[in-house]
Amino acid sequence: MPQDTQSSLQPLFEAALKVQAYAHAPYSTFKVGAAIKADDGNLYVGCNVENVSYPLGQCAEASAIGAMISQGAKRIEQVMIVSPNSKPCPPCGGCRQKLREFASPQTPVHLATRDGKVETLTLGELLPKAFDM
Ligand SMILES: [Zn+2]
Repeated sequence: MPQDTQSSLQPLFEAALKVQAYAHAPYSTFKVGAAIKADDGNLYVGCNVENVSYPLGQCAEASAIGAMISQGAKRIEQVMIVSPNSKPCPPCGGCRQKLREFASPQTPVHLATRDGKVETLTLGELLPKAFDM
């Protein structure tokens, strides 16, 4: 059930909302912002970065993961993804697997709209039977 942004999620929501504005999405015009709360207590953000050669584009979640790893954090504790409209934007299949590399099936994934409605699922709900070796 969607709910208003809880106060504990407000910093994560605001970080994802802020970085959404920087998305490079001239082809889809679908700007997405993502924020990760990592095991070091810091927030890492990312936006989608499209390319004229469409398959080369990168999702917001992947950008945020890159920022987190680049700063030395190791694990994802929570993820917030802000959609560009009034409908939540779940991560694409590829990003679900990318998130799973650094998060557990119990990790909360918050799907927010720009007006602050949040739906929370676990990564395990989004990606049951994740690939693993
Ligand atoms: Zn993706």
